[in-house]
Amino acid sequence: MHKFEGKILIEGKWQTPDSGETLPVVDPSDGCELGRIARGSAVDIDLAVKSAQNAMQGKWGEMIPVERGRLLQKLSSLISENEDELTEMEAHDVGKPLRQARVDVKACARYFEFYGGAADKVHGETIPYLEGYTVLTLREPHGVTGHIIPWNYPLQILGRTIGGALTMGNACVLKPGEEASQTALMVGELAIQAGFPPGVFNIVPGLGEEAGNALLNHSGINHFSFTGSPEVGTLVQQAAAKNAVPVTLELGGKSPQVVFADADLDKALPFLVNASIQNCGQTCSAASRVLVEHSIYEDVTARLAEKFCALQAGPAFSDLACGPLISPEQKVRLEKYLEEAKSDGLNFAAEGVIVADAPSGGNYVKPLLIRDVPPDHAVAQEELFGPVLAVMPFKDEEHAVELANGTPFGLVSGVWTQDGARQFRMAKKLKSGQVFINNYGAGGGVELPFGGVKLSGHGREKGFEALYGFSVTKTIAIHHGE
Ligand code: NAD
Repeated sequence: MHKFEGKILIEGKWQTPDSGETLPVVDPSDGCELGRIARGSAVDIDLAVKSAQNAMQGKWGEMIPVERGRLLQKLSSLISENEDELTEMEAHDVGKPLRQARVDVKACARYFEFYGGAADKVHGETIPYLEGYTVLTLREPHGVTGHIIPWNYPLQILGRTIGGALTMGNACVLKPGEEASQTALMVGELAIQAGFPPGVFNIVPGLGEEAGNALLNHSGINHFSFTGSPEVGTLVQQAAAKNAVPVTLELGGKSPQVVFADADLDKALPFLVNASIQNCGQTCSAASRVLVEHSIYEDVTARLAEKFCALQAGPAFSDLACGPLISPEQKVRLEKYLEEAKSDGLNFAAEGVIVADAPSGGNYVKPLLIRDVPPDHAVAQEELFGPVLAVMPFKDEEHAVELANGTPFGLVSGVWTQDGARQFRMAKKLKSGQVFINNYGAGGGVELPFGGVKLSGHGREKGFEALYGFSVTKTIAIHHGE
């Protein structure tokens, strides 16, 4: 049993939640209970926020950036040293195939490495002003930052949001997704070992409507970072408005990949498939739509169909193309979409298989390719959060832009073409936070600013740019005379 089982992390110590209650941790690969996490409440959130406020008044508030950076880098090393255990834990908790879970652990370590190195490199400015003045800016922490993250990429999202906030000297309170909190708690344990002062990094697991809601509405939070659904994102924004605090919203997507007739198809095809089924399609930046120029539409659709027929879904530890969906509820939600699509006459062009030895208690679905999807159909407009790829043809560049931008979301886009001028035109016209040309990163590396437009959210995490969001500018104007 882990020392964080059923516990919350406050003041650098594992503590029993006020309610004494716990929630089950269920393995999506077989439906078996793996352990228990604490069911945090408003009382626990209040203690966590107070602990973070105290940390800001103490040693952490005064620590010079290079020392903060060293602590982040120590945490990065500890995450790397525990890579195997974290990989297995994430695979059990999220149902993620082992290879994908390992990528997430490495990414989490990389966030703390990148941000640790950045801590002493964020500068203010000096600004030319009136005669007799010197004006300069400082970048200061907000204070206590609140972070709510989902279950689909716990390690990666923790790394990017907590990493950025700690780098700028904030103290954090994190509420991980109730379906998968274990690796976040394990990183909390490693943060204790790394030597972060008490109260700098607090974790209160629990339900969204309890612990999450209490965190949102706590008046002691000075900045909010939320990653999750647009519906809850709206609640976050409303709560933040009451307390007049800034928010970063990393919400959903319906990302397109646009394939022109001159594309290098051998290079593109693996990206078209993988970006739609990675993490069983439960990825905010999944490229769940492929738009293909009409002259190569039949060829591309046939080649995609061949690849989809070969895809296998099975337990995380079998390390196949797809694991299970996170929960029975998510499976029911997806099946409802697919039943409606079928009754609307949509063309199910190809499907993969669920391996014969997949446990009956797992939430398995077959990877699915749907062709000729009408652009206004729910399958082309909404986040299905399953391994389903919608393919549709376009006439010309203008039509491609219209279709690509024609959803409420704007997170990531991909473009496949050899024409250099078209690459730039498309990159400028696509309304999304990231555009990948002749590759697709599903969010890309740690160094690349990430975030959405429209219903995909606002603000940026990842890269250096996140550090401006996790800090506030103070302008100092000194009148010293001639
Ligand atoms: P969700 O919004 O239901 O839950 C996300 C988090 O919010 C969880 O921790 C949950 O407990 C909490 N929450 C739920 N209700 C709440 C409430 N009333 N008050 C406060 N907190 C509450 O989302 P989900 O189903 O866990 O995750 C899937 C969604 O997340 C998808 O829309 C996906 O696109 C999005 N997502 C976005 C990104 C990104 O970086 N843009 C990354 C991953 C996932």
